[in-house]
Amino acid sequence: MTAFWTAPDPRAALRELLSTAYPRAVADADLLLSLTRKYGTSPFTTLETARRELAVDRVVFERLLDTFDQVPELRAAVVAGPAGKYWSNTVLPLESKGIIDNILERRTVTPHIVALYPGPTCMFRCHFCVRVTGARYENSSLEAGNAMFASVIDEIPNDNPYAMYVSGGLEPLTNPGLGGLIARAAGRGFKMVLYTNAFALTSQTLERQPGLWDLHAIRTSMYGLNDEEYEETTGKRKAFGRVKANLLNFQKLRAARERPVRLGLSYIILPGRASRLTRLADFIAELSDAAPDQPIDFLNLREDYSGRPDGKLPPGERAELQDALNAFAERVASRIPSLNVDYGYALHSIRSGTEAELIRIKPSTMRPGAHIQAGVQVDLLGDVYLYREAGFPGLKGAERYIAGRIEPGTTLADVVAKFVADDRRIEPRDGDEYFLDGFDQALTARLNQLETDMADGWHTSRGFLR
Ligand code: SF4
Repeated sequence: MTAFWTAPDPRAALRELLSTAYPRAVADADLLLSLTRKYGTSPFTTLETARRELAVDRVVFERLLDTFDQVPELRAAVVAGPAGKYWSNTVLPLESKGIIDNILERRTVTPHIVALYPGPTCMFRCHFCVRVTGARYENSSLEAGNAMFASVIDEIPNDNPYAMYVSGGLEPLTNPGLGGLIARAAGRGFKMVLYTNAFALTSQTLERQPGLWDLHAIRTSMYGLNDEEYEETTGKRKAFGRVKANLLNFQKLRAARERPVRLGLSYIILPGRASRLTRLADFIAELSDAAPDQPIDFLNLREDYSGRPDGKLPPGERAELQDALNAFAERVASRIPSLNVDYGYALHSIRSGTEAELIRIKPSTMRPGAHIQAGVQVDLLGDVYLYREAGFPGLKGAERYIAGRIEPGTTLADVVAKFVADDRRIEPRDGDEYFLDGFDQALTARLNQLETDMADGWHTSRGFLR
């Protein structure tokens, strides 16, 4: 049966659905449809705003919310909306695991996700990266840093295999002890994902650090599709050729060793580069052809909105991007049908041809208490950062977002307990919003929404869906 929201006349289809499933709600069909559209495009709307826009009183609004609870098709329609990725990727999983309640109640718990940032340096200097040129961790901090990471790996409860991943900050493969840490984590049952630029993912690295074969997945950030594009973005000459050779080699090695490590790419579409997407599909097909039984597993596509103050694309650029995404999807379907493509919040809405609201957190909407229960980032010094883009050495202002330091005698649990007990607040300053990545922003928007809903007396229905 076709879902009502994709029917040629969604209003009539919803009426028909309600008349069978929930006849008493037929009279509310138009209001329910408006509410579905509102939360499918603007998931962080507060309940009072939505109620006022519908021009109904609280009794009627409560009845509508009640119907949403009882008709799963309405809920599914919201999640299938243009901004549905916010619901399905971030909000609903965090709600169902109780993470949101942990934050709102300021509970002392192990952070839901712990990111390890073990890289002392990076060989690239990407023009959009916030890292401070020349700033790095001293090699002398590696030994103590890796001992600290080992203690964190041993400390995290292993009831969630995805509780940790390795990223940066700087490039993780510049840490020669990384393989040992991965093996240790895998030994405790963790499925570790490594975010890397793959410049150092050579045969020699894999030989020296066999623990890298215990990874669950490698996610390689691609910065172009030829040497010139790479140099333009990363400042490094001939880097594409090396990354490509490393990935082709990895494809062959993982097939020969029959290792289940998943291999994927992430690619940011920079302004004006949308037409290159079909070349990206061809590149992934070429890598996949190197090991036909183990094609490239996944691709995370994102769009660079930095520099666009309202996060919006001009209509012409938007249409061009939509066409490019369609051409890309066709090429993937014909050449690499098994590829799992994640389009993220923004591209998903562009693909669907509808304008969804994109979250733009500003210092005025940042939360001084942050959200330590949802996740932390630990760097080589043991510093525990509250936001994903803050963990770079020497980054001005980022030190204010360090919750504490893990060191001999102080565990991650101690740092969290102290941060929560002290009820520490960090007054946001201009520019602090850049410390938040897309996940931090979506979560911040959700928490702000929930607190407003609760202050407005909508405790049980807070946040619309959960
Ligand atoms: S974005 Fe990643 S690869 Fe590029 S300079 Fe920053 S840390 Fe290095």
